[in-house]
Amino acid sequence: MIKQELFGMTLQEMQDTLLPLGMKKFRAEQVFRWLYEKAANSFEEMTNLSKNDINILQENFTLITNEIEVLRDLKSNDGLTHKVLLGFPDGTSVETVCMHHDYGYSVCLSSQVGCSMGCTFCASGLHGLERNLTCGEILAQVYYFQRFLAMQEARVSRVVLMGSGEPMLNLDNVLKALDILHEEHGQCIGYRNMTISTCGVIPGIRKMTEMGRTINLAISLHAASDELRTSLMPINKTYNYLEVIKAADEYATENGRQVMYEYILLAGINDSIEDAKILANTMKHKNVVINLIPANPVPEKGFMRPSGNAVDRFFKALKEQKINVTVRKEMGKEIDAACGQLRASTLVGGE
Ligand code: SAH
Repeated sequence: MIKQELFGMTLQEMQDTLLPLGMKKFRAEQVFRWLYEKAANSFEEMTNLSKNDINILQENFTLITNEIEVLRDLKSNDGLTHKVLLGFPDGTSVETVCMHHDYGYSVCLSSQVGCSMGCTFCASGLHGLERNLTCGEILAQVYYFQRFLAMQEARVSRVVLMGSGEPMLNLDNVLKALDILHEEHGQCIGYRNMTISTCGVIPGIRKMTEMGRTINLAISLHAASDELRTSLMPINKTYNYLEVIKAADEYATENGRQVMYEYILLAGINDSIEDAKILANTMKHKNVVINLIPANPVPEKGFMRPSGNAVDRFFKALKEQKINVTVRKEMGKEIDAACGQLRASTLVGGE
Protein backbone atom coordinates (compact mmCIF):
# COMPACT_ATOMS: atom_id res chain seq x y z
CA MET A 1 0.00 0.00 0.00
CA ILE A 2 1.29 3.43 -0.91
CA LYS A 3 1.51 5.66 2.13
CA GLN A 4 -0.07 9.11 2.03
CA GLU A 5 1.81 12.30 2.89
CA LEU A 6 0.46 13.80 6.11
CA PHE A 7 2.66 16.90 6.31
CA GLY A 8 0.96 19.77 4.51
CA MET A 9 -2.61 18.76 5.41
CA THR A 10 -4.89 21.31 7.07
CA LEU A 11 -6.67 20.40 10.33
CA GLN A 12 -9.85 19.67 8.39
CA GLU A 13 -7.98 17.40 5.98
CA MET A 14 -6.38 15.55 8.88
CA GLN A 15 -9.78 15.03 10.49
CA ASP A 16 -11.26 13.78 7.22
CA THR A 17 -8.32 11.40 6.73
CA LEU A 18 -7.81 10.11 10.27
CA LEU A 19 -11.44 9.56 11.28
CA PRO A 20 -12.11 6.76 8.74
CA LEU A 21 -8.98 4.99 10.04
CA GLY A 22 -10.58 4.74 13.47
CA MET A 23 -8.85 7.66 15.17
CA LYS A 24 -10.85 10.07 17.32
CA LYS A 25 -11.48 13.62 16.12
CA PHE A 26 -9.42 15.24 18.88
CA ARG A 27 -6.45 13.11 17.81
CA ALA A 28 -6.27 15.05 14.54
CA GLU A 29 -5.86 18.24 16.57
CA GLN A 30 -3.08 16.64 18.58
CA VAL A 31 -1.27 15.49 15.45
CA PHE A 32 -1.72 18.96 13.93
CA ARG A 33 -0.08 20.55 16.96
CA TRP A 34 2.77 18.06 17.02
CA LEU A 35 3.61 18.81 13.42
CA TYR A 36 3.02 22.54 13.16
CA GLU A 37 3.45 23.84 16.72
CA LYS A 38 6.10 21.50 18.09
CA ALA A 39 7.90 20.77 14.81
CA ALA A 40 7.86 16.99 15.33
CA ASN A 41 9.18 15.00 12.38
CA SER A 42 8.35 11.48 13.52
CA PHE A 43 5.23 9.80 14.86
CA GLU A 44 7.08 8.26 17.84
CA GLU A 45 7.57 11.75 19.27
CA MET A 46 3.82 12.22 19.62
CA THR A 47 3.77 11.06 23.22
CA ASN A 48 0.16 11.93 24.02
CA LEU A 49 -1.14 9.52 21.34
CA SER A 50 -1.87 5.88 22.12
CA LYS A 51 0.48 3.19 20.87
CA ASN A 52 -2.32 2.03 18.59
CA ASP A 53 -2.77 5.48 17.04
CA ILE A 54 0.96 5.82 16.47
CA ASN A 55 0.85 2.45 14.69
CA ILE A 56 -2.00 3.61 12.48
CA LEU A 57 -0.04 6.72 11.55
CA GLN A 58 3.14 4.77 10.84
CA GLU A 59 1.33 2.27 8.65
CA ASN A 60 -0.55 4.84 6.59
CA PHE A 61 1.50 8.02 6.35
CA THR A 62 4.86 9.50 5.54
CA LEU A 63 6.31 12.77 6.83
CA ILE A 64 8.28 14.70 4.23
CA THR A 65 10.10 16.51 7.05
CA ASN A 66 11.68 13.19 7.92
CA GLU A 67 12.57 12.25 4.35
CA ILE A 68 14.35 15.42 3.36
CA GLU A 69 18.05 15.02 2.78
CA VAL A 70 20.37 17.96 3.39
CA LEU A 71 22.55 18.04 0.27
CA ARG A 72 24.49 21.20 1.13
CA ASP A 73 24.69 23.08 4.40
CA LEU A 74 26.40 26.48 4.53
CA LYS A 75 26.69 29.13 7.21
CA SER A 76 27.95 32.67 6.62
CA ASN A 77 31.10 33.75 8.47
CA ASP A 78 29.09 35.88 10.90
CA GLY A 79 26.75 32.95 11.57
CA LEU A 80 23.64 35.00 10.78
CA THR A 81 22.77 33.38 7.46
CA HIS A 82 22.23 29.66 7.11
CA LYS A 83 21.55 28.22 3.70
CA VAL A 84 20.66 24.64 2.85
CA LEU A 85 20.02 22.70 -0.33
CA LEU A 86 17.22 20.31 0.60
CA GLY A 87 16.75 17.11 -1.41
CA PHE A 88 13.34 15.48 -1.82
CA PRO A 89 12.74 11.74 -2.26
CA ASP A 90 12.17 12.14 -6.04
CA GLY A 91 15.69 13.47 -6.50
CA THR A 92 14.75 17.14 -6.89
CA SER A 93 16.17 19.83 -4.63
CA VAL A 94 15.51 23.42 -3.55
CA GLU A 95 17.36 26.09 -1.64
CA THR A 96 16.14 27.59 1.60
CA VAL A 97 17.79 30.34 3.62
CA CYS A 98 17.32 31.24 7.28
CA MET A 99 18.41 34.72 8.33
CA HIS A 100 18.88 35.88 11.91
CA HIS A 101 17.80 39.55 12.03
CA ASP A 102 17.58 41.73 15.11
CA TYR A 103 13.79 41.22 15.08
CA GLY A 104 14.04 37.44 14.86
CA TYR A 105 14.38 34.60 12.35
CA SER A 106 13.18 34.91 8.79
CA VAL A 107 13.12 32.07 6.28
CA CYS A 108 13.33 32.56 2.52
CA LEU A 109 11.31 29.85 0.81
CA SER A 110 11.33 28.32 -2.65
CA SER A 111 7.98 27.66 -4.33
CA GLN A 112 9.10 25.62 -7.34
CA VAL A 113 11.96 23.34 -8.34
CA GLY A 114 13.68 25.54 -10.91
CA CYS A 115 11.67 28.25 -12.63
CA SER A 116 10.03 28.82 -16.01
CA MET A 117 10.27 32.61 -16.07
CA GLY A 118 13.70 32.84 -17.68
CA CYS A 119 14.83 36.15 -16.12
CA THR A 120 18.26 36.64 -17.62
CA PHE A 121 20.10 37.62 -14.39
CA CYS A 122 18.67 34.85 -12.22
CA ALA A 123 20.24 31.46 -11.57
CA SER A 124 16.97 29.74 -10.61
CA GLY A 125 15.80 29.49 -14.19
CA LEU A 126 19.08 28.31 -15.68
CA HIS A 127 17.74 24.78 -16.07
CA GLY A 128 14.06 25.64 -16.56
CA LEU A 129 11.16 24.46 -14.42
CA GLU A 130 11.09 20.92 -13.05
CA ARG A 131 7.90 21.01 -11.01
CA ASN A 132 5.80 22.84 -8.45
CA LEU A 133 6.44 22.15 -4.79
CA THR A 134 3.60 20.66 -2.77
CA CYS A 135 2.21 22.54 0.22
CA GLY A 136 4.04 20.07 2.49
CA GLU A 137 7.35 20.71 0.73
CA ILE A 138 6.96 24.48 1.08
CA LEU A 139 6.16 24.12 4.78
CA ALA A 140 8.92 21.57 5.35
CA GLN A 141 11.47 24.28 4.48
CA VAL A 142 10.25 26.37 7.43
CA TYR A 143 10.18 23.40 9.78
CA TYR A 144 13.64 22.26 8.78
CA PHE A 145 14.91 25.37 10.61
CA GLN A 146 12.14 25.59 13.19
CA ARG A 147 13.09 22.20 14.54
CA PHE A 148 16.54 23.48 15.50
CA LEU A 149 15.27 26.83 16.71
CA ALA A 150 12.66 25.23 18.99
CA MET A 151 15.49 23.60 20.94
CA GLN A 152 16.79 27.11 21.74
CA GLU A 153 13.28 28.42 22.53
CA ALA A 154 13.48 30.52 19.35
CA ARG A 155 11.13 30.56 16.39
CA VAL A 156 10.75 31.48 12.76
CA SER A 157 8.61 34.61 12.86
CA ARG A 158 8.74 35.70 9.21
CA VAL A 159 8.68 34.03 5.84
CA VAL A 160 9.38 35.44 2.39
CA LEU A 161 8.70 33.72 -0.92
CA MET A 162 11.90 34.90 -2.56
CA GLY A 163 13.67 31.62 -3.13
CA SER A 164 13.54 29.81 -6.44
CA GLY A 165 10.36 29.66 -8.47
CA GLU A 166 7.47 31.96 -9.26
CA PRO A 167 5.00 31.75 -6.34
CA MET A 168 2.08 33.08 -8.39
CA LEU A 169 2.33 30.02 -10.65
CA ASN A 170 1.95 27.73 -7.64
CA LEU A 171 -0.34 30.03 -5.70
CA ASP A 172 -2.79 27.47 -4.28
CA ASN A 173 -0.01 25.52 -2.58
CA VAL A 174 1.76 28.69 -1.47
CA LEU A 175 -1.37 30.19 0.09
CA LYS A 176 -2.31 26.90 1.72
CA ALA A 177 1.16 26.73 3.30
CA LEU A 178 0.90 30.35 4.49
CA ASP A 179 -2.54 29.71 5.97
CA ILE A 180 -1.17 26.74 7.92
CA LEU A 181 1.77 28.88 9.14
CA HIS A 182 -0.78 31.45 10.29
CA GLU A 183 -2.71 28.95 12.47
CA GLU A 184 -2.83 29.76 16.15
CA HIS A 185 -1.93 26.19 17.06
CA GLY A 186 0.78 26.09 14.45
CA GLN A 187 3.65 28.48 13.82
CA CYS A 188 1.32 31.44 14.46
CA ILE A 189 2.93 33.84 11.98
CA GLY A 190 0.92 36.97 11.20
CA TYR A 191 0.12 37.59 7.52
CA ARG A 192 1.88 40.94 7.87
CA ASN A 193 5.07 39.01 8.50
CA MET A 194 4.78 37.09 5.25
CA THR A 195 5.84 38.34 1.81
CA ILE A 196 5.15 36.96 -1.64
CA SER A 197 7.49 38.19 -4.35
CA THR A 198 6.49 37.97 -8.00
CA CYS A 199 8.02 38.88 -11.33
CA GLY A 200 4.57 40.27 -12.19
CA VAL A 201 2.07 37.50 -12.88
CA ILE A 202 -1.08 39.64 -12.84
CA PRO A 203 -3.75 36.92 -12.38
CA GLY A 204 -1.94 35.86 -9.18
CA ILE A 205 -1.83 39.43 -7.88
CA ARG A 206 -5.56 39.78 -8.59
CA LYS A 207 -6.32 36.53 -6.82
CA MET A 208 -4.43 37.76 -3.77
CA THR A 209 -6.40 41.01 -3.91
CA GLU A 210 -9.67 39.05 -3.92
CA MET A 211 -8.58 36.93 -0.97
CA GLY A 212 -8.04 40.05 1.10
CA ARG A 213 -5.22 38.82 3.31
CA THR A 214 -2.67 41.31 4.65
CA ILE A 215 0.27 39.39 3.16
CA ASN A 216 2.99 41.73 1.84
CA LEU A 217 3.39 41.93 -1.90
CA ALA A 218 6.79 42.47 -3.51
CA ILE A 219 7.22 43.05 -7.22
CA SER A 220 10.47 42.26 -9.01
CA LEU A 221 10.60 45.27 -11.31
CA HIS A 222 14.30 45.62 -12.23
CA ALA A 223 13.64 48.06 -15.08
CA ALA A 224 11.17 50.87 -15.72
CA SER A 225 11.03 50.87 -19.50
CA ASP A 226 9.51 48.31 -21.82
CA GLU A 227 12.54 47.64 -23.96
CA LEU A 228 14.94 47.11 -21.08
CA ARG A 229 12.52 45.14 -18.93
CA THR A 230 11.57 42.82 -21.77
CA SER A 231 15.24 42.15 -22.46
CA LEU A 232 15.82 41.21 -18.81
CA MET A 233 12.48 39.57 -18.01
CA PRO A 234 10.53 37.81 -20.80
CA ILE A 235 7.37 37.92 -18.63
CA ASN A 236 7.13 41.65 -19.48
CA LYS A 237 5.82 40.65 -22.92
CA THR A 238 2.85 38.87 -21.36
CA TYR A 239 2.28 41.20 -18.41
CA ASN A 240 3.57 44.67 -19.14
CA TYR A 241 5.14 46.40 -16.13
CA LEU A 242 2.69 49.33 -16.20
CA GLU A 243 -0.21 46.87 -15.95
CA VAL A 244 1.64 45.06 -13.16
CA ILE A 245 2.06 48.32 -11.23
CA LYS A 246 -1.64 49.02 -11.69
CA ALA A 247 -2.55 45.58 -10.29
CA ALA A 248 -0.15 46.16 -7.38
CA ASP A 249 -1.72 49.59 -6.67
CA GLU A 250 -5.11 47.86 -6.45
CA TYR A 251 -3.66 45.29 -4.08
CA ALA A 252 -2.27 48.06 -1.86
CA THR A 253 -5.59 49.91 -1.79
CA GLU A 254 -7.77 46.85 -1.15
CA ASN A 255 -5.50 45.03 1.28
CA GLY A 256 -3.98 48.00 3.05
CA ARG A 257 -0.36 46.99 2.53
CA GLN A 258 2.46 49.03 1.09
CA VAL A 259 3.95 47.31 -1.97
CA MET A 260 7.69 46.78 -2.20
CA TYR A 261 9.46 46.99 -5.56
CA GLU A 262 12.70 45.07 -5.96
CA TYR A 263 15.25 46.55 -8.34
CA ILE A 264 18.41 44.55 -8.95
CA LEU A 265 21.26 46.84 -9.93
CA LEU A 266 23.16 45.32 -12.84
CA ALA A 267 26.38 47.15 -13.74
CA GLY A 268 26.11 49.10 -16.97
CA ILE A 269 22.61 47.78 -17.71
CA ASN A 270 20.04 49.46 -15.46
CA ASP A 271 22.11 51.46 -12.96
CA SER A 272 22.58 54.87 -14.65
CA ILE A 273 21.27 58.20 -13.33
CA GLU A 274 18.96 58.22 -16.34
CA ASP A 275 17.51 54.82 -15.25
CA ALA A 276 17.00 56.21 -11.73
CA LYS A 277 15.09 59.20 -13.13
CA ILE A 278 12.82 56.98 -15.22
CA LEU A 279 12.16 54.80 -12.18
CA ALA A 280 11.45 57.84 -9.99
CA ASN A 281 8.97 59.16 -12.56
CA THR A 282 7.16 55.84 -12.67
CA MET A 283 6.83 55.68 -8.88
CA LYS A 284 6.24 59.34 -8.12
CA HIS A 285 3.42 60.03 -5.62
CA LYS A 286 2.94 56.34 -4.92
CA ASN A 287 3.07 54.95 -1.42
CA VAL A 288 5.68 52.29 -2.23
CA VAL A 289 9.17 51.34 -1.15
CA ILE A 290 11.91 50.52 -3.61
CA ASN A 291 14.47 48.00 -2.47
CA LEU A 292 17.72 48.21 -4.42
CA ILE A 293 19.60 44.93 -4.71
CA PRO A 294 23.21 45.13 -5.90
CA ALA A 295 23.30 42.04 -8.14
CA ASN A 296 25.08 38.90 -7.15
CA PRO A 297 27.10 38.12 -10.23
CA VAL A 298 25.86 35.06 -12.09
CA PRO A 299 28.97 34.06 -14.05
CA GLU A 300 26.97 31.84 -16.46
CA LYS A 301 25.04 34.94 -17.58
CA GLY A 302 27.83 37.50 -17.56
CA PHE A 303 26.12 39.96 -15.18
CA MET A 304 28.22 42.15 -12.91
CA ARG A 305 27.58 43.97 -9.65
CA PRO A 306 27.89 47.77 -9.78
CA SER A 307 30.50 49.50 -7.61
CA GLY A 308 29.50 50.94 -4.25
CA ASN A 309 29.66 54.40 -5.81
CA ALA A 310 27.22 53.47 -8.54
CA VAL A 311 24.79 52.10 -5.94
CA ASP A 312 25.08 55.32 -3.88
CA ARG A 313 24.54 57.47 -6.95
CA PHE A 314 21.38 55.55 -7.90
CA PHE A 315 20.09 55.66 -4.32
CA LYS A 316 20.63 59.42 -4.05
CA ALA A 317 19.00 60.10 -7.39
CA LEU A 318 15.83 58.38 -6.13
CA LYS A 319 15.98 60.10 -2.75
CA GLU A 320 16.20 63.49 -4.44
CA GLN A 321 12.90 62.72 -6.11
CA LYS A 322 11.40 61.92 -2.67
CA ILE A 323 11.16 58.23 -3.41
CA ASN A 324 11.09 55.89 -0.44
CA VAL A 325 14.16 53.74 -1.12
CA THR A 326 16.34 51.25 0.74
CA VAL A 327 19.37 49.16 -0.22
CA ARG A 328 19.03 45.49 0.63
CA LYS A 329 21.17 44.52 3.57
CA GLU A 330 23.53 41.98 2.27
CA MET A 331 23.60 38.66 4.04
CA GLY A 332 25.54 35.57 3.21
CA LYS A 333 27.12 36.68 -0.04
CA GLU A 334 30.01 34.29 0.51
CA ILE A 335 27.61 31.33 0.59
CA ASP A 336 25.84 32.10 -2.69
CA ALA A 337 22.73 33.21 -0.86
CA ALA A 338 21.02 34.61 -3.95
CA CYS A 339 18.24 32.40 -5.13
CA GLY A 340 19.09 29.44 -7.30
CA GLN A 341 22.83 29.88 -7.18
CA LEU A 342 23.60 26.97 -4.91
CA ARG A 343 21.40 24.52 -6.78
CA ALA A 344 22.74 25.70 -10.13
CA SER A 345 26.33 25.25 -9.01
CA THR A 346 25.48 21.78 -7.71
CA LEU A 347 23.62 20.74 -10.87
CA VAL A 348 26.58 21.57 -13.08
CA GLY A 349 28.86 19.86 -10.59
CA GLY A 350 30.52 23.18 -9.76
CA GLU A 351 32.57 24.10 -6.67
N1 SAH B 1 9.85 34.73 -9.04
C1 SAH B 1 9.66 35.63 -7.95
C2 SAH B 1 10.21 35.10 -6.66
C3 SAH B 1 11.71 34.86 -6.68
S1 SAH B 1 12.44 36.14 -5.81
C4 SAH B 1 10.17 37.00 -8.29
O1 SAH B 1 10.72 37.17 -9.37
O2 SAH B 1 9.98 37.92 -7.51
C5 SAH B 1 13.58 36.56 -6.95
C6 SAH B 1 14.45 37.61 -6.34
O3 SAH B 1 15.75 37.03 -6.24
C7 SAH B 1 14.60 38.82 -7.22
O4 SAH B 1 13.67 39.83 -7.04
C8 SAH B 1 15.91 39.25 -6.71
O5 SAH B 1 15.63 39.95 -5.53
C9 SAH B 1 16.67 38.00 -6.37
N2 SAH B 1 17.66 37.68 -7.38
C10 SAH B 1 17.59 36.92 -8.49
N3 SAH B 1 18.76 36.89 -9.14
C11 SAH B 1 19.59 37.66 -8.43
C12 SAH B 1 20.94 38.05 -8.61
N4 SAH B 1 21.67 37.64 -9.62
N5 SAH B 1 21.45 38.87 -7.68
C13 SAH B 1 20.73 39.31 -6.62
N6 SAH B 1 19.46 38.97 -6.41
C14 SAH B 1 18.89 38.16 -7.31
